[in-house]
Amino acid sequence: MHPGEEGEGDRLSFRVSDLKQYFYCPRVVYYHACLPAVRPTTFAMQMGAEQGAAERRREERRSLRPYHLRRGEILFDLPLASRALRLHGRLDMAIRTDDNATGTMEAIPVDYKLTPGRTVAHFLLQLTAYGMLLAEVWGLPVRRGFLYLIPARRARELAITPAMQQQVIVAVADMTDIARRERMPPPTRQRGKCAVCEFRRFCNDV
Ligand code: SF4
Repeated sequence: MHPGEEGEGDRLSFRVSDLKQYFYCPRVVYYHACLPAVRPTTFAMQMGAEQGAAERRREERRSLRPYHLRRGEILFDLPLASRALRLHGRLDMAIRTDDNATGTMEAIPVDYKLTPGRTVAHFLLQLTAYGMLLAEVWGLPVRRGFLYLIPARRARELAITPAMQQQVIVAVADMTDIARRERMPPPTRQRGKCAVCEFRRFCNDV
C-alpha cells in the first residue's frame, strides 16, 4: 500500500493485495503505511510475479473453456481503481459475457494464484475486491469470480456475495483509519504467524 501514492486525505488508496496483509495481521498494514521504507521485495514475491506473468502469457493462448463459458470477451492485466472504494489494483484477467442463465451481460474477475489447491479466506476477499472494482469501472453486475490455480492449471468458481463485499468495505475503512491516524493495531492473536513475519523484529510485544 502506498498511502501517498495517489495523494493524501480523501485520495488515500490501497492496493487490493494489501487486503491480504490486513487479514494476515492488521499491524502489518500499519508498518506498510507508516514505515514504508522497511519492506524489501522478497525473492518469493519476485518469483510469484514472474510466474504470474508467464502463466498470463500461456493463458492468452487459451480459450474460455476452463471457465465453462462458451462466449465472452477477455481482457488481461487490467488496471482498476476506485476513489469511492479507496482501492486500486491490476486484475490478471476479466471476462465480459452473457453466457449465463439470464442471458444478460455480467463481468467476471479472474485472479491467478500460485497455491496448489487450498482456497484461503483472503483469496476470496481479494477476488471480491477486484469484483467490486470491475463492477464500478465496467458498470456491470459481478456475481462470481474465478481463482485460477496455476500449479493445478484449474479454475475454481466462487460466488461474490454482499456479505463478502461488506467485509472488504469494513477492512478498507479500518486500514484507512490505521494509515490516517498512524494507529498501531494490537498484535495478531494467532502468534504462530509472528514466527515467520518479516516485521517480527519491530514487534516487541509478541
Ligand atoms: S510480528 Fe506478529 S504482531 Fe507483529 S506484525 Fe507480524 S504477525 Fe503482526
